[in-house]
Amino acid sequence: MKQAKIDTSNYRDHLSNVTETGKRIWIYPRIVIGNFYKLRTYFSWLLLGLLFGLPLLEVDGHPVFLFNVIERKFIFWGVTFFPQDFHLVAIGLLTFIVFVILFTVIFGRIWCGWACPQTIFMEMLFRKVEVLIEGDHNAQRRLDNEPWTTEKIWKKTLKHSIFVLLSFLIANTFLAYIIGKRELFSIILDNPLEHLVGLFAIIIFTAVFYFVFARFRELVCIVVCPYGRLQGVMLDKKSIVVAYDFLRGEPRGKKQTPEEKEKASVVHGSCIDCKICVQVCPTGIDIRNGTQLECIGCTACIDACDEVMDKISEPRGLIRYASQEGIEQKTKLKFNLRIASYSFVLVALLSVLAYLLLTRNIVETTILRAPGLTYQENKNGTVSNLYNVQVLNKSYQTMPIQLKINQQNAQIKMIGKAIIVQPGEVAESSFFIEIPNKSLTDGSVKVEIEVISEGKVIDHVKTKFLGPIL
Ligand code: SF4
Ligand code: SF4
Repeated sequence: MKQAKIDTSNYRDHLSNVTETGKRIWIYPRIVIGNFYKLRTYFSWLLLGLLFGLPLLEVDGHPVFLFNVIERKFIFWGVTFFPQDFHLVAIGLLTFIVFVILFTVIFGRIWCGWACPQTIFMEMLFRKVEVLIEGDHNAQRRLDNEPWTTEKIWKKTLKHSIFVLLSFLIANTFLAYIIGKRELFSIILDNPLEHLVGLFAIIIFTAVFYFVFARFRELVCIVVCPYGRLQGVMLDKKSIVVAYDFLRGEPRGKKQTPEEKEKASVVHGSCIDCKICVQVCPTGIDIRNGTQLECIGCTACIDACDEVMDKISEPRGLIRYASQEGIEQKTKLKFNLRIASYSFVLVALLSVLAYLLLTRNIVETTILRAPGLTYQENKNGTVSNLYNVQVLNKSYQTMPIQLKINQQNAQIKMIGKAIIVQPGEVAESSFFIEIPNKSLTDGSVKVEIEVISEGKVIDHVKTKFLGPIL
């Protein structure tokens, strides 16, 4: 079987963007506008629209998304979560982790190339601005190497000014997800002295985003991102990745005519070793060396190689989405049982999560017997227990609450005023349950209490009622 020709001087034992002495090699990726690039561009418009638009959306005056870690308040698709919903968050996180692992096992780094905010911002915003102002990869390299002329000064000033503006916009958007758009607008529009902490946060966020997209760039994917680090353990031979078909491409070399092939001692494969796939790579790797940690699945090398194949009249797909096994066995990528079963599990996991979210109660009721007390025998022939009740209102409406016991002959007697819970708050009260002595045959009975608001049963709570042993 043919094997990929491995350039040992450039193979996996070092990063392609760092010299032997540890100095950064700046990457100037060549831009190729192929089918995948166009698709990714359209998809990025959708994602950018969602990312910038979602924090502005409100339903009934409340944000649709909010991740307020400071006040521990989270709104997801309009549903508010409180610290009491921690179990849902834990289940959601577990589901998400399993989802990510399964998704990666089947589809490799599709997320990184198509949907990761780092890639979208870098390749679809900042890179495009850079190309627009400084020109293609060759022009950028020339500009960086030339002395500080007037042209270089104004181009660099313009580029970095737009970078700062974009970073400021992204910083504000991220802050809007944390504190909500109203709070954000008041930080921007009010007297700055009233919001020093908020302004400081915007400046820090802007500086971090500017540094990431102006300087740090691909290093985020290569050395920082934990998801990228996990690829080595999540991918297997069947995972779909951006892959070079070494059986078809090797041995690489100049394209031969049929006559040349007949006479040649070595018949070349389809790869003409033009290295354009390396020039377009934003992480600077050579995909012909096999799947590598640095590959973010951006598809630029697929587009580049397809363009080359068109020019030399060879079929497209020398670099394509494929699994290592598919390339070795020369099978086409198709929807097989493995993909179907993994996808089924993914859909099932998401369905469980959706069910838990949709059936989540809008109140959380806790009823506990008053500590230190057992029961009280009354003159009217009843036995009573004292309970404390706490009701958390997870909705946006004020809720009057009534309690009703599901037990024949039993009744609830509230102590103090009626329970009215404000949105997002907890109301507390106490009450007696009274049960006729003759209805009690055992030392204790289980009772069920309905929590009712405006005639609707919104929660059920089971508790224990203590009585004398007869
Ligand atoms: S772009 Fe295609 S033909 Fe050119 S070096 Fe890469 S794999 Fe070979
Ligand atoms: S190897 Fe290809 S898909 Fe991977 S990062 Fe480089 S250009 Fe993108």
